[in-house]
Amino acid sequence: MNVRTIIVDRSRKRQLLVPIAAMTLGALVLLVMVAVFLVDRFNETAVAREQRMVESGFTQQLHQLDEIVVPQVDWDTAVEKIDRKLDVSFADLDFGHQLFTFDGFSHSFFVDGDDKVTYTFVSGAHQPPGSFEPFRAIATQLLRPIRIAEARRGPIKPHAQGKGPITRPIQANGIARIGGKVYVVMASLVQPDLGMVQPKGPRSSVSINAIPIDETMLSAFAARYLLDDLRLVDPSAPLHDRASVPLHAPDGTTVAALSWAPRQPGSVLMHRMVMLVFGAIALLLLAAWTIVRRSAVVVDELLASEMRARHLAYHDTLTLLPNRALLFERLRAMLAKPLARRPKLGMLCIDLDRFKEVNDTLGHQAGDELLKAMADRLRALARSEPGAFTARLGGDEFVLVAPATDREAIAALAQRCLGTLLTPVDSEFGRLDVGCSIGVAVIDGNVREPSLALRQADLALYRAKARGRGCITFYEPEMEAAFQTRRVLEAKLRNALDHGAFHMVYQPQVDAAGTIRAYEALLRWDDADLGAISPATFIPLAEECGLILGIGEFVLRRVFAETRDWHGVRIAINVSAIQMRAPGFAARLIQIAASGQIDPVKYDIELTETALLTDTPATTENFAALKRMGFAIVLDDFGTGYSSLRLLHRFRVDKIKIDRSFVADLGQSIEAETLVGAIVKLARSFQLGVIAEGVETEAQKDLLIAAGCHEFQGYLTGRPTPVDEVAARFVSPSHLLLRA
Ligand code: C2E
Ligand code: CA
Ligand code: CA
Repeated sequence: MNVRTIIVDRSRKRQLLVPIAAMTLGALVLLVMVAVFLVDRFNETAVAREQRMVESGFTQQLHQLDEIVVPQVDWDTAVEKIDRKLDVSFADLDFGHQLFTFDGFSHSFFVDGDDKVTYTFVSGAHQPPGSFEPFRAIATQLLRPIRIAEARRGPIKPHAQGKGPITRPIQANGIARIGGKVYVVMASLVQPDLGMVQPKGPRSSVSINAIPIDETMLSAFAARYLLDDLRLVDPSAPLHDRASVPLHAPDGTTVAALSWAPRQPGSVLMHRMVMLVFGAIALLLLAAWTIVRRSAVVVDELLASEMRARHLAYHDTLTLLPNRALLFERLRAMLAKPLARRPKLGMLCIDLDRFKEVNDTLGHQAGDELLKAMADRLRALARSEPGAFTARLGGDEFVLVAPATDREAIAALAQRCLGTLLTPVDSEFGRLDVGCSIGVAVIDGNVREPSLALRQADLALYRAKARGRGCITFYEPEMEAAFQTRRVLEAKLRNALDHGAFHMVYQPQVDAAGTIRAYEALLRWDDADLGAISPATFIPLAEECGLILGIGEFVLRRVFAETRDWHGVRIAINVSAIQMRAPGFAARLIQIAASGQIDPVKYDIELTETALLTDTPATTENFAALKRMGFAIVLDDFGTGYSSLRLLHRFRVDKIKIDRSFVADLGQSIEAETLVGAIVKLARSFQLGVIAEGVETEAQKDLLIAAGCHEFQGYLTGRPTPVDEVAARFVSPSHLLLRA
């Protein structure tokens, strides 16, 4: 794990944990908020109830004050002694003194039918009429409804014996602020109760009385309704935590307010349960902390398994190198950088040359070991190059990407890479010597797609492999065209197979005396557009694109059909490694041989070394079946393969064919002669036949004879020849006639 991943992990962890912590804390805060809200609501409801109680209590209080004067004003005697003719001593006795002394009224007035003041009694003593003036405004407001009610009542009917009171009290009250004090002011119409005395006129006298809302009244009220700290306040005064009820004048203006400290049962409850509440909060905090801690562990596990999954998804399990997916991801990031800020990229596609042979001969474990060793070397190489990285594409194909200033630097890197992989690997399976081919693409600003970069390097690799082992080839734009051509060729080849558009030619194999001993059947393909295409081109293509089995069958049928009646000469048929590896190939061959009615004994099957290297059960099975049927086996291109000697031990072949590359070198280098000599000796020691191919000159032939090889095939002794020309030599004329 490097620093970057740790940092990324931390931030990922934070990303996951912060919401969990936030949610838990949020839930806690919400809980506290709900509790506070509930307490508040509880308090509010309680205050609202107290307010309603105070309101109705105060209204009742006013009503009770009204009641006090009812017996005095609804009274025939009062009509007599107040309304009809004011009797001051009566007024003093029953109103002024009485109300002041017993009921706490500070002011008592009378006004007559014309609302003129007739009696003024303040704080237990008569006063001049002027002391009514401060009360005139409120009196006027109160008199209005009284006069209306009086008019509605109408004249008093004469008394009817035994009927009880004949009037209902007509009263009005209101609150007024006068001279810094707040008063309850009441007005009560003087009217007869039994009707023995008639009022003086249509409008009677009215008794107006005022009582201050003072300490005495307030403390009595507070005591009755269990209110704390009841006060009379200015309505505009700030309230703080106090409840209040406004007191209105009859005209609706707010004169004062009753204010008290409300009871707050919610807060009281909260107060009482404070320990409990703190305990609960502590518990909740603990729970939240535990949740966050637990989540941290879970998140850690999650991140770890995510990392494992990511690693698996992005790495090759055998070599632990990044895989194609990660390669593409990194390439994409590199290519996305603005041109000015990135150098050229050297993209190396590396393919091990003889990996398949190692895998096939020494087994998969050896192959795995080899791949791991190569991966380690590439990894080390990538580490030594700033900004470079390497990946395994699959099979024995690797990629090395490195930033570089120019093409020369990239070429030098490729050379280093080739050198590194060329060194043999010492393993428990012995010394593994494979080497590699490298395709190089120089990625500049024009390439922005990873797949395009890889394709260029891959095309170059394809060309490198075609050129032979251990080659470094740079990508050239014309390779695209070659690639296209290849695709076109593939389509044409498929079409040719469908239509059987192939034919065979036969090249003679002669002995030292020049006698033709055998013919090698060679496949030919003439395309309408492209002309004759060499099997050296289309056979490898057919092997790559899966057409070789079909083509192989075509060859067998055609050759058997054409050569069935040839006598006294052997016929060699080339069989591809892919055919040998195909399960059931031998069985198919038996069928074809049977339906062609041929004698296997006169046929050679030419196999390359790679065909036998594939040590699969199918190969062994096919080989044994061919031998059983009587076919002779020739090891083609001998000496070019990986482990010729091993093969001779393992497979009982009948003949070896010295590869034409050695023949071509004969007379040019001493080594070639030594090598050919060695091959011939080897063949002798295994008691195998030996033939040389590609013999073009007498000199080559002489050297071969000197080395002990007495069979030849090549342009010197005969070119590949159309079937009709060859057939004429072997088929009796009668037979030809028959065929015609
Ligand atoms: P090969 O089996 O090694 O076949 C011999 C090749 O050498 C033939 O090329 C032949 O034309 C060529 N040759 C013959 N004498 C000389 C000479 O003196 N000098 C030189 N330079 N070349 C000579 P061709 O026909 O182009 O075939 C190329 C390869 O294609 C063959 O190599 C063989 O591997 C493959 N091939 C050809 N026909 C078949 C076939 O029917 N089946 C399979 N599986 N492969 C075939
Ligand atoms: Ca051959
Ligand atoms: Ca050959």
